[in-house]
Amino acid sequence: MPKQLGMIPMTATANVHLHEINKFGAQAERWWDLQGEFKTLHDINPLRISFIQQFTSLAGKRIIDVGCGGGILSEGLAKLGSDVTGIDLSEELIDIADLHGLESGIAVTYKKISAEDMAAQQAEQFDVVTCMEMLEHVPDPASIIRACATLVKPGGLVFFSTLNRQPKAYVLAIVAAEYLLRMLPKGTHDFKTFIKPSELSQSARAAGLVLQGMTGIEYNPFNKRFSLGKDVDVNYIAAFKRPE
Ligand code: SAH
Repeated sequence: MPKQLGMIPMTATANVHLHEINKFGAQAERWWDLQGEFKTLHDINPLRISFIQQFTSLAGKRIIDVGCGGGILSEGLAKLGSDVTGIDLSEELIDIADLHGLESGIAVTYKKISAEDMAAQQAEQFDVVTCMEMLEHVPDPASIIRACATLVKPGGLVFFSTLNRQPKAYVLAIVAAEYLLRMLPKGTHDFKTFIKPSELSQSARAAGLVLQGMTGIEYNPFNKRFSLGKDVDVNYIAAFKRPE
């Protein structure tokens, strides 16, 4: 049974959907099953890391992974020599991430804390901030974007990935991925919460970040492979810089 989220201090301003945290937490123990519910995150992980490497080397970088889940991206970055902190509000997922780190021997510091609280404590402490497949699960994505812009050092980079609010994303990311191909558990995504690239860029710009590049994460149902490409209509990843 998922733990109840009475544990998260709920204030009027808490930027979290408890049903989202519960939903992910309930599936925590299957997070690292490469063929399980989170196969897609495993499949796209090398692509997002190669996108990040187009903008920075990873050796010796201080990175915070916001909404880290069970640590798929966090571990991937740490493996390449970064000093990674992963934060998430799901206690179950933080536990799974810690346990997996013990098994893999890849050291990442995990903490259950919100992006906003971390930003209040650790402003300008990170060379790189990553926030992948998370913005579409929170009530106020602009607040997460502002927190990421606060966490990064001047001159540092912030990476976001999310789903585009386009009809094509409804058909592919929800109807096909959740119902027809069963790549994701039903109910993983809600179309209303998807974010257009222009909206992401605008919120990032309002937070003082400058767009560096944006690429689609495309899926080929015939060979079942993901690749980076021009099509940002479904899933996409973007790099921003905080000016010096
Ligand atoms: N970033 C990871 C996990 C994506 S799944 C990856 O791409 O591999 C979405 C994650 O966002 C889940 O771990 C969920 O617990 C987390 N999440 C959702 N709302 C959150 C919030 N308000 N604060 C922190 N994490 C949140």
